[in-house]
Amino acid sequence: MNILLMSCGSLSFILLAAHFLRSGDISIAFAMIGSIFLIFLKRRWSRYISAIILSAGIPVWIMTAAGSIQQRITTDSPWIRLSVIMGLVIAFFILISFLCFKSVKNIKERETDRWAGGAVLLTVVLLIIGRWKAPYQMIIFDRFVPGSGMAEIVLLGIYSGFITELFLTLKNTSKLRVRMWAGFSVVFFLQFILGISGIDQFLMTGNLHIPVPAVIVGGPVFRGSGFFMMTLFFVTIAAAGPAWCSYFCYFGAWDNVAARRAGKCGFIPTKNILIRVLILAIIVFTVYMFRIFSVSEIAAASAAICFGLTGLIIMRMMSAKRGVMIHCTSYCPIGLIAALAGKISPFRIRIEKTCSSCMACSKVCRYGALGNNEIISHKPGLTCTLCGDCVNVCHNNSIHYNFYGLSQKTARALFTVIVVSIHAVFLGFARI
Ligand code: SF4
Ligand code: SF4
Repeated sequence: MNILLMSCGSLSFILLAAHFLRSGDISIAFAMIGSIFLIFLKRRWSRYISAIILSAGIPVWIMTAAGSIQQRITTDSPWIRLSVIMGLVIAFFILISFLCFKSVKNIKERETDRWAGGAVLLTVVLLIIGRWKAPYQMIIFDRFVPGSGMAEIVLLGIYSGFITELFLTLKNTSKLRVRMWAGFSVVFFLQFILGISGIDQFLMTGNLHIPVPAVIVGGPVFRGSGFFMMTLFFVTIAAAGPAWCSYFCYFGAWDNVAARRAGKCGFIPTKNILIRVLILAIIVFTVYMFRIFSVSEIAAASAAICFGLTGLIIMRMMSAKRGVMIHCTSYCPIGLIAALAGKISPFRIRIEKTCSSCMACSKVCRYGALGNNEIISHKPGLTCTLCGDCVNVCHNNSIHYNFYGLSQKTARALFTVIVVSIHAVFLGFARI
């Protein structure tokens, strides 16, 4: 039954792809090609999505049949054979959609099914909006084969479903988060290197953007334009709060890797907030002066590179020794903005009164947000990035994700769907 369903399902997607290719809808044709993978997955969410797409094919074939038969009749051409063929195609699609829906019951139900399905849909919708509305060709596949971005979107949707499922099933998600985050950073820098080595398709705007987070603020202050990255940053912050600094930032991923090399977690400097405010103020002021005195782009870019290199030295010399992310908690100005602006997101980490002050969570917090004071006051510090590592280790279940009115479990699942979807969207976008 399964093999029959998979082969007939794939054939149906291929038929739809051929139909859309013929009618010139290349993007939808590619989306159908990407959807073939859905039918091979033994998950309820993928089967449901396949069934919905295939049933949406029924009216497509009915309209195609009606149009073609009508045309034959008007031109006095033979139409009976065509109507039989189209009738068979429609019947085939009705049958395969029915079988697909029916097969859902034979697949083991998982608690994570609807969240994984939600992540697939959210990823696909966000990527389609980005592809459609952004001022640049955002999806990397599209830049090489026009239209093929839709196949990439479907594949990233499937990836997002799987990662969400993993996050919600694993007991400790720390390693998964780090791998996912570092994986994104590798893809980011690989595209950046390919872009600057001459393959322009890998540069989102076609212009060079120094991959140092401070440039997200410094760039627009210097140029007085180019707010794309800043907008992307604030949209992410509004949706996922300071999780920018524990899931998405291409640079912070390496501070995390450095801090983990030390094994044990240390402490962050006590005056870290003052240091960061000062660094942010110096950057904005310096860049503004660059602009006033018309400093060349090359000189400004060199200053940004020096700032980034100093950050790498801090990672190597301090984070790797202390076991906490000194670069991200005490040096990077964007981290400060993410922490402050992140308050607009309703997601929080909450410490319950049941906390026994065992400090197990404190020992895994690489952001130094769970010192003695924070545990006593039952409130994580400003450097908390909602990474979730502490949630994994509390034996009392006293520390958890919180979102107004939602249960702990739902808050965590919703947060996961959002961060994984944004991660998949970032993976799909070409680099600046
Ligand atoms: S603090 Fe800066 S480098 Fe670190 S993750 Fe946040 S934005 Fe990235
Ligand atoms: S308090 Fe918890 S969620 Fe916040 S940064 Fe520390 S380990 Fe991550």
